[in-house]
Amino acid sequence: MRKATPQFIHGKKRPGTSSERMENINPANGTVINEISVASGEDVNDAVASAGRAFNAWSSMKGVERGRILLKSAEILRERNRELAEIEVEDTGKPIFEASSVDIESGAEALEFFGGIAASLEGSHMQLGNNFAYVKREPLGVCAGIGAWNYPMQIACWKAAPALACGNTMIFKPAELTPRNAVNLAEIFIEAGLPEGVFNVVQGGPDVGRRLVEHRNIQKISLTGEVGTGQKVMAGAANTLKHLSLELGGKNPMIIFDDCDLDDAVQGAMMGNFYTQGEICSNGTRVYVHTDIMNGFLEKLEKETAKLKVGDPMDPSTRIGALISSSQKEKVLDYIEIGKSQGARLLFGGDEPVFGDGSPLNNGFFVNPAAFYTDSDDDRIAREEIFGPVMTVLPFSEEEDVITRANDTPFGLSAGVFTNNLKRAYRVVDRLQAGVCWINNYNITPVEVPFGGYKMSGIGRENGRAAVEYYTQLKTVYVEMEGVGKPFE
Ligand code: NAD
Repeated sequence: MRKATPQFIHGKKRPGTSSERMENINPANGTVINEISVASGEDVNDAVASAGRAFNAWSSMKGVERGRILLKSAEILRERNRELAEIEVEDTGKPIFEASSVDIESGAEALEFFGGIAASLEGSHMQLGNNFAYVKREPLGVCAGIGAWNYPMQIACWKAAPALACGNTMIFKPAELTPRNAVNLAEIFIEAGLPEGVFNVVQGGPDVGRRLVEHRNIQKISLTGEVGTGQKVMAGAANTLKHLSLELGGKNPMIIFDDCDLDDAVQGAMMGNFYTQGEICSNGTRVYVHTDIMNGFLEKLEKETAKLKVGDPMDPSTRIGALISSSQKEKVLDYIEIGKSQGARLLFGGDEPVFGDGSPLNNGFFVNPAAFYTDSDDDRIAREEIFGPVMTVLPFSEEEDVITRANDTPFGLSAGVFTNNLKRAYRVVDRLQAGVCWINNYNITPVEVPFGGYKMSGIGRENGRAAVEYYTQLKTVYVEMEGVGKPFE
């Protein structure tokens, strides 16, 4: 039997106490990498108890001491970048070109950023005549992180770094399709000096997630996942009234005005649709292009996309890897058919690449990057999150009209504007209902700035100092200097 990816509880790897196993499949060739040992209820209880035991000592440490451990973890993550990036590629199917430069690095940056601010978290003081009050910023307690599969290490770090910097302890459940790097992160934390129990990992799917959501001794859930999962998590957390951060899906608009730098806009649209095979929540999948530049845009888009090599994710020249699973591939191919059947014009791609005779890649979950052109914002491909390399291009001619159309969605994660008219850029961005907007670029997510959605794309923010608000609570202490006196007289 293959060695299964374990839990990580109280500083040690250990198999789940249930006999339940799930398969971890390499999306590039369909082979089973290994199995996951799924956490039982007892394992989840043990992880929560471990995090609870570790909380007092960890939260009592000075911020500068907690920060030092996070900074050391960032250093180790960087030293092991190649090995961790290869695991990320095997688990997700994304190109090594991305994983080796972005995935592990962005995790390390989150540890560095929050490690750096751990020492400067502070409360406040109010003088009230001769009396005064002070407001302490305290950690929430035991937090649970539940991750999606598209950026496994980045998501684990984006949740663990602020949680731990603020003095919380954490149980992290990676997505069941990408289980391995969370355990590696837990080991790296221990190597960097993190006390046992401060960061635990449990493995499994929605059932294990639900146990965390319903657990009485967990104070907060931070989820990255689909809107539907966010709704279930919010409902499940209602009984225990947990704090929530929800990082959910999107169907984000990118608006390309006729006064933009067209080459740049084409690259932005490609990055905002085809990076990580399109499996990015903030992707700008509704690309509104001004009618005066439409022909030039489509021509360049096709020419530039044709240069992207689809293939073995471990090959450094590959730019489009495999989708996460067979069912995700089917979902994307279904949307291609839906797009065609609703009358959208398929400009290119959307089929499965055929590799050489006998190539194991033929068993992988690949779809060639695709673009549709349609006049109709009501097409399902223009309204629903596909989470694959499928761009929908829509024409517009009036600024006012395109703003209304861009906002006509239940989602509100992100948006982009390409124009060289800066007044227009600020004016349009001001009116876009999205938590993250880019002017003349797309999908840039520095750890220094908050990330999160409006409307049904989420609640709360990750990254930036703003994240501290979501991993701490305020304690107000009023101090009487003059005595109670006689309040009833
Ligand atoms: P998903 O919602 O299926 O799963 C996410 C996680 O939730 C997994 O770990 C899963 O096991 C767990 N889960 C599922 N049902 C649960 C339940 N009822 N209770 C508790 N946990 C449960 O999402 P996915 O398919 O892994 O990821 C893709 C989605 O994630 C897309 O919609 C994408 O837009 C979104 N996403 C959002 C962000 C963001 O920051 N806003 C980032 C990445 C991905």
